Amino acid sequence: MAARRVQIAGYLTAVAACLLLGLLAGWNSLAVRIDNQSYDLLSSLEDNPGTDAVVVAIDEATLRAKGERSQIRNIVSEALETIRRVSVLAVALDVTLGGESDPAQDARLETALRATPILILPSLVDSAGQWEDPAPRFRDSAEAIGHVHYETNQSDGVTRELSLETTFAGDHRWAIALETFRSNRGAEIIESPSDLDVGGTHIPDAHPGDAHAMLIRYGKTIPVVSAATLDKHLDEIRGKTVFLGVTALSMANDRLKIPTGETIPGVTVHAHAYDTLRRGAFYTNASATVITSVCLALAAAVALIFAFFSGWTAYLAVLPLLALPLYLPRLFLNADTVFPIAAPTAVAWLCFAGAATYQHFVIRGTLRRTEADKARYQEAIHWAAHEMRTPLTAIQGSSELMSRYKLPEEKRGELSAMINSESKRLARIIQTFLDVERLAEGQMEMKKELFQAADVVDTCIARVLPIAERKNIQLTLDTPVEGTLTGDRELMEYAFYNLLTNAVKYSPSDTHVRVLGETHGHELRLAVQDQGIGMDAKELKSIFKKFYRTKRAEQSGETGTGIGLSIVQQIVTHHGGRIDVTSTPGKGSCFTMVLTVSHAETPSR
Ligand code: ADP
Repeated sequence: MAARRVQIAGYLTAVAACLLLGLLAGWNSLAVRIDNQSYDLLSSLEDNPGTDAVVVAIDEATLRAKGERSQIRNIVSEALETIRRVSVLAVALDVTLGGESDPAQDARLETALRATPILILPSLVDSAGQWEDPAPRFRDSAEAIGHVHYETNQSDGVTRELSLETTFAGDHRWAIALETFRSNRGAEIIESPSDLDVGGTHIPDAHPGDAHAMLIRYGKTIPVVSAATLDKHLDEIRGKTVFLGVTALSMANDRLKIPTGETIPGVTVHAHAYDTLRRGAFYTNASATVITSVCLALAAAVALIFAFFSGWTAYLAVLPLLALPLYLPRLFLNADTVFPIAAPTAVAWLCFAGAATYQHFVIRGTLRRTEADKARYQEAIHWAAHEMRTPLTAIQGSSELMSRYKLPEEKRGELSAMINSESKRLARIIQTFLDVERLAEGQMEMKKELFQAADVVDTCIARVLPIAERKNIQLTLDTPVEGTLTGDRELMEYAFYNLLTNAVKYSPSDTHVRVLGETHGHELRLAVQDQGIGMDAKELKSIFKKFYRTKRAEQSGETGTGIGLSIVQQIVTHHGGRIDVTSTPGKGSCFTMVLTVSHAETPSR
């Protein structure tokens, strides 16, 4: 039972370690890249409705047709003048207008800006570390000023997110896409710690707890109209929200990689961000709690499968669990949540490897134990069969003699006494066999009674005395034995009796066997010392093994089974004690039982 509990605890620890390792693996930089790629793939598969955003691009063709960098304000003015010819929802300008330039250009621009009904102007933190806002004369025409910063992922350079706000030197700007959206809605931006609300559109934070940020849902391509030919494509911007910015590589080098793998100019990224806001469906990242819970569930499921199934059934049952982490990100994304692929996959596979390996070794261990048990059982059977042969032959022979011949009364008496003693011997062999088996399996019922150690010693000495006398061996109790023991008195007698009979058995005639008792605190040392054949160090190591007999013992002519000491040791161990042995070949041995004396009240003798 206890062993089973240890086994379960070991199994759970192994799976928990794999879970932890999987979670840690899911947070390293390679895993993050894998997660990003999985997100990119899934998000570019999505199909989204059309957009009302359009980019009016100041591209290479525009620069070639309308003049170079120095003419930029004129180009913007001309584009705004053309846009005015149709009605649009709003114009977001992604061309910074800080400082003064050519007065004629500035005057034309100021007029063009004033004539644009809903205008959002850009601002960004410049290289000098200051907000570069539009010059005051332009600024007055703007409905709002929004920042035009964007975030690229540091590990792979992909722009997936947009900071909805940027604060620099205590000065705060909302993103131009957000300001444009707000203007179109005619609403205020209401801020709470974990989201923003614009006219009923709830914008959850991509990273709960951090600054307000949003994952951009790049859907359909945003239409782009070149500023150079805008007057011919007015229908394409009618009723739309226009993002006017520079896309010519010679002037603007803000080419951004997006999840679909394309590279697009910054102004288009802002148009996509605006489009995400307009659609009102936002992706949020799954929280660490959700990720950990899913990983925990995966680990628990794998652990249960390998706890209740084995072999092919377990491997087949675990397959869906190994595949599930690959499908989870898609499932979650359907519910607008970005879920990682690396951590759950690592957890599922590591737990699978851990659980399968653990079970493999446990099963092998159990198999090994079963085989050892079988071998031990066979050995015991052989021993019993071998031992039973002698008394059986004697019984058989005697009974045959008695039935075949008419024997004198005296002879008949002798033979029936022999039959009686040999059948008793048979019964003893069977009992010993059963005891060995039961003890080995831990089935031997052990009483828990209080008894005096001295009683055990006295009873055993009295029983062995006649045998000792036959060999003219002196058997004496040299120091008195004291103390109360807890356990099975009968078993303890069996053990001590064995030590005494061995001492007598393996000693020559005319020697002395001493019994010595010694108590130190709670420790009782019960020694049997003889002057017999003794054993060398190598033999000493094996005497507690079942069926082991020393050569010296075999040559002494004393019969034995080599099983007694193994039972003695088990009994003493079951009582929480041990046996110490010292011996010198030809000089004698000393077997000492070291037992714990009970605190309990001494029962009356
Ligand atoms: P058995 O006496 O039936 O052979 P045991 O298990 O009681 O079996 O003892 C195992 C072996 O240990 C004996 O065969 C003997 O070789 C050795 N042995 C045990 N007690 C003594 C002793 N007092 N002196 C010398 N050898 C001993």
